[in-house]
Amino acid sequence: MLDLIEDCDVVIVGSGFSGAVIAERCSSELGLRSVIIERRSHAGGNSYSEPDPDTGIEVHRYGAHLFHTSNRDVWNYINRFTGFTDYKHRVLSVYRDKIYTMPINLLTISQFFGKHMTPPEARALIEEHRAEMAGKSPSNLEEKAISLIGRPLYEAFIRGYTMKQWQTDPRDLPEGIITRLPVRMNFDTRYFEDTYEGLPVDGYAKIFDRMLDSTNIRVLLDTDFFALKEKIEGLGKLIFYTGPVDRFFDYRFGQLGWRTVDFERDLINRKDFQGAPVINYADETVPFTRILEFRHMHPERKYTEDKTVIFREYSRAAGAMDEPYYPIGTPADKDMYDQYRTLADAESNVIFGGRLGTYRYLDMHQAIGAALATFERTIKPRFTAPSSERIPTGMQPAA
Ligand code: FAD
Ligand code: UDP
Repeated sequence: MLDLIEDCDVVIVGSGFSGAVIAERCSSELGLRSVIIERRSHAGGNSYSEPDPDTGIEVHRYGAHLFHTSNRDVWNYINRFTGFTDYKHRVLSVYRDKIYTMPINLLTISQFFGKHMTPPEARALIEEHRAEMAGKSPSNLEEKAISLIGRPLYEAFIRGYTMKQWQTDPRDLPEGIITRLPVRMNFDTRYFEDTYEGLPVDGYAKIFDRMLDSTNIRVLLDTDFFALKEKIEGLGKLIFYTGPVDRFFDYRFGQLGWRTVDFERDLINRKDFQGAPVINYADETVPFTRILEFRHMHPERKYTEDKTVIFREYSRAAGAMDEPYYPIGTPADKDMYDQYRTLADAESNVIFGGRLGTYRYLDMHQAIGAALATFERTIKPRFTAPSSERIPTGMQPAA
C-alpha cells in the first residue's frame, strides 16, 4: 500500500465529491497520479446511492441528496459524468394533522390562514405578524425567521422542526440556517430556486465510477488515513484532506460540534406509502423530522415490486463514533474552528477541503465548485508554475 503512495503525486483523503473532483482534474488535466484513501467500503462520500436490496429502489444511503445548482461551470462539469432526470424537488409539511407545501409560499399561507390570498394581501398580513422585529436586526435563527415570515408561521413550521433537527433552541442558532429556505409570495412550490436541477439518471455511485475510472487513480477502500498518517506525511507528498479538521490535529482544541441523523428503515408491503418523496413533520411531539420515500424520486423508473421502502429521520448531536452530518456552528465552535484553521494554514503540504475539512455545510454543487477552484488556484500552479508564483496550501478557498 505504501508503495502505491510512494509512486503517486497526490494523496487524497476521502472519496466524496471534493476528493473525486481533485483526483479527476489532476489526472485528466495534468496526467498526475493520485491515491484516494477512503475509510468506507465504497467511494462517493455522503452522496452515495445504491439499489435497495428488497425493492430495487435507488436509495441514498446518507440521506436524500437532490442535485441543484445555478453555477453553469459546475453543471457542465458534472454533466460529463452523468445525465440528469428532470426531477424537481417538492416537499410537504404536516402540522397538527393538516398538510401544507414547504418552503413557505402563497399556497402555504393561504392554507394556513384558511383563505385564498393574493400576493399583496399575504405581504400585508406577514408585515403585521413580523411587527415585533420592526427596526431590529435579527441576531439568531428565531429572530431571522420572525423577520421573514412573522411569528404564527414561524411557530407552526419552523420552531418545532428546528428544535427537533438541531436540539438547540432556535435563539441559540445562527440565522444563516434559515436563509437556506426561500419564502415566496407566489404559488411556486418548488423547494429549490436554482437554474439546474435533477437526479443522476443512473444514481450517484455511477458518477464516481466514471470520475475515478483512470489508471492514474487508485482508490484504497476500508482504509483509515490515521492508521498511516505519519508514514504518509513522511513521504512529503501533497495531501488533499477532506476528513474532519479537528481529528487531523488530534482534537488539540476540542471536538467541533456536529449533528448526526439516524435513519429508521421500514419495508412496506404496498406500492406507495405516502405519495411523495419527502414529508416533513413540523410538530415537536412527533419524534422524527421527516419521512423519505425514494420511490418517488425516480418516477421515470418502472419499479415492479409491490413494496416500497421508507426512512424516518431522527436528528441528534453526534458522538465520537457517529457520522458527522451538519456542522452546528455555535460561537464556541467558531472560535475552536478558527484555532484549527490557523494550524491548517501553517501546513505546507496539506490542503484542507470539503465539508469536514473546512467545517462548513456544503451542498454538492458547492463542494464541486470549491474543489474545482482549489485545483485551478492551488494545485495546478504547484505542478506547473515557477515556485515564486505558487499559492500556499492550507484551508481551501470558498468557490
Ligand atoms: P463527503 O461526501 O462527506 O466525503 C468525505 C469522505 O471522507 C467520506 O467518504 C469519508 O468516509 C471520508 N473520510 C473521512 N475521514 C476519513 C479518514 N480518516 N480516512 C479515510 N477517509 C475518510 N447536498 C446537496 O447538494 N443536496 C442535498 O439534497 C443534500 N442533502 C444532504 C443530506 C444530508 C443528510 C447530508 C449530511 C448532506 C447533504 N448534502 C446535500 C451535502 C452533501 O452530502 C455534501 O455536499 C457532499 O457530501 C460533500 O462532499 P465532500 O467530499 O466534501 O464530503
Ligand atoms: N426548516 C424548518 N422546517 C422545515 C424545513 C426546514 O424549520 O419544514 C429549517 C430547519 O431549521 C432546517 C433549515 O430550515 O435546518 C434548513 O432546511 P433544509 O431543508 O435546507 O435542511 P436540510 O435538508 O439540509 O436538513
